[in-house]
Amino acid sequence: MSPAAPGPRSRALFCRARRSLVGGVDSPVRAFRAVGGTPVVFASSRGAELIDVDGRRYLDLVNSWGANLLGGAPSPVVAAVRSAVSEGLSFGAPSPREHRLAERIRAAVPETELLRFVNSGTEATMSAVRVARGFTGRSLVVKFAGGYHGHSDGLLARAGSGVATGALPDSAGVPRAVVRETRVLPYNDVGALDRLFEKEGEKIAAVIVEPVAGNMGVVPPIPGFLPRISRWCRRSGALAIADEVITGFRLRRGAISTELGLSPDLLTFGKIIGGGLPVAAYGGRRKVMEVVAPLGPVYQSGTLSGNPVAMAAGTAMLDALRPKVYRDLERASARLARRIEEGAEAAKVRPFALQRVGSMLGLFFAQGPILSFDGARRTDRTRYARFFHAALRARVYLPPSPLETAFVSAAFGPPEVDRAGAALARAFRSAAGRDG
Ligand SMILES: *Cc1c(COP(=O)(O)O)cnc(C)c1O
Repeated sequence: MSPAAPGPRSRALFCRARRSLVGGVDSPVRAFRAVGGTPVVFASSRGAELIDVDGRRYLDLVNSWGANLLGGAPSPVVAAVRSAVSEGLSFGAPSPREHRLAERIRAAVPETELLRFVNSGTEATMSAVRVARGFTGRSLVVKFAGGYHGHSDGLLARAGSGVATGALPDSAGVPRAVVRETRVLPYNDVGALDRLFEKEGEKIAAVIVEPVAGNMGVVPPIPGFLPRISRWCRRSGALAIADEVITGFRLRRGAISTELGLSPDLLTFGKIIGGGLPVAAYGGRRKVMEVVAPLGPVYQSGTLSGNPVAMAAGTAMLDALRPKVYRDLERASARLARRIEEGAEAAKVRPFALQRVGSMLGLFFAQGPILSFDGARRTDRTRYARFFHAALRARVYLPPSPLETAFVSAAFGPPEVDRAGAALARAFRSAAGRDG
């Protein structure tokens, strides 16, 4: 089946974008390379919908890669940004708005005794690793295959969706000497963790891990995996870094790692805490964070860090995240997951596995359960691509890669869930009908 044809304005604008922007995009996965076809160009978003430049409306299951927990343009966030803008765009100096957001994060995440705002998840994880190295005086960093922690040099080894999709095992431009300080283990592999720590435990500065992996589809930790990381870190003097850029404030109000058995020394946040604006943060135990300048010798800075407009957006976002939001989100996500599974079953799509953790949905055209990056990569990419384009025709915007997570937003009430469920059931039928 040929890819969905974008509307005429979308097509023209994307052609034009390619003359100025690398590949017509600012982040690789948006270019549709993993699914083929031409990206849709969007004009606006509202609630559960994205509206493209041709006026076509799509139910949005990307939600800005998870940032838009409340869907598009939630009114409390928009109002807070409007009001902040009228008071100035950036001071490059302390302002009460950054204190407010910091206090809300600390209140929701007791593990972050001290924190620092930055502008992207990449900066947060890169800085957390630097802090861990500065604190321990060691250099090795352990990550897991399929874990994505932003695009800093040392963390771009077997880094999940975007990188795997581009068929770059690592990235060009990353010196071998840098990656030599990174050890990559299979996710959920306790034995491999034991062996590495027995051999090199004394040299390990940190283990960085997504408490629920969200950059190879959705891969939950098996029981015992995260506690084992904590145990080894405690025993060897390494720090545990919970990368909660996706999971933070998505699975509950705060971090999820402690609940899952990881005791993090450092945590990173992004996506949701900016309410749709570029905000991220890293933080953790006071003793550890006190190595950061100006209190300590680890340097890290940012011209626009703690930007008042972005801080206002983040604060309004967190203030809107009441318990009811999470209860409704869970209900909508469970219902949508069920509808998707029924749709796949009715169209006799096999093998198919839906892995859900809260409002994170991983759709694998593979036999489940998927527990690692190697497993995730066995998913049938061609079938995903067909399904993706059939869904696009049915006006549902899914992540344009089989290794990304579909995110449900709180703007999905029962009617939106039912519309999405019905559209995706049609998409399964039409994609399967042409499987041959
Ligand atoms: C998105 C993401 C990052 C990087 O955040 P950016 O804001 O894109 O730099 C880091 N870690 C995880 C787990 C992510 O999903």
